[in-house]
Amino acid sequence: MKRVFATIFICLIFFILYCVTSIPVKGVHVLMYHAVYDEEKGEEPYGDYSLFVEKKEFEKQMNYLKSVGYTPIFLSEIDNNKYEKPIVITFDDGYENVYTNAYEVLKNKKFKFNFFIISGWLGDPYVTSEQLKELSNSEYVEIGSHTVSHVKLDELDYKEQEKQLKESKESLEKLLNKKINTIAYPYGSYNKDTLKIVSKYYDYAVSTKPGLNGNNKNNYKLKRYNIPSDMTLDEFKELFK
Ligand SMILES: [Zn+2]
Repeated sequence: MKRVFATIFICLIFFILYCVTSIPVKGVHVLMYHAVYDEEKGEEPYGDYSLFVEKKEFEKQMNYLKSVGYTPIFLSEIDNNKYEKPIVITFDDGYENVYTNAYEVLKNKKFKFNFFIISGWLGDPYVTSEQLKELSNSEYVEIGSHTVSHVKLDELDYKEQEKQLKESKESLEKLLNKKINTIAYPYGSYNKDTLKIVSKYYDYAVSTKPGLNGNNKNNYKLKRYNIPSDMTLDEFKELFK
């Protein structure tokens, strides 16, 4: 009798293990940041305040991701990575404070991130070409395009869109001597023409639509969660429940 119970018990354990390990992944989180300012250095947000996350707050968010076992990967690795809990951290617009503030936090944690650059807007308040080259050479940074001049793509005709998408890719590739395969649509704006053109020049494109990127994702309409300046740590944690 004891042996029967022992067999049932072992079978039950295997069944539970099977259930736990075969839960389908709901999808990959992609986080969208813009700027990180450091109050300790006396910095203040400017322009669109909602885009500026304070450095300490940003650090707390990254600490949380680490504590619950997320591994930041590049956007270009979203279909091919070995991690149980991959996540993609992105910054739009190319602000210099990503280089001076966020990079330090991320590098210390060995966290990878994607940085989307407006190719025609380099230099104060954005990164200089020298800073961009340095970032591009880092094993933790993947540079992507954010068009030439931060336009709403769906308001442009096919030809103008192609110019924005192709020229930004080419000028970044020339500057960084590297393939540029990822793009973030400014204002999350795109239409059918955009999708046709991006598939010619890029492998992955991110929107501003919130949500997870699961098995049925479209690699030219990837979803992202915006992290605004006033998001509390509890609200941030909610994204991962
Ligand atoms: Zn932007």
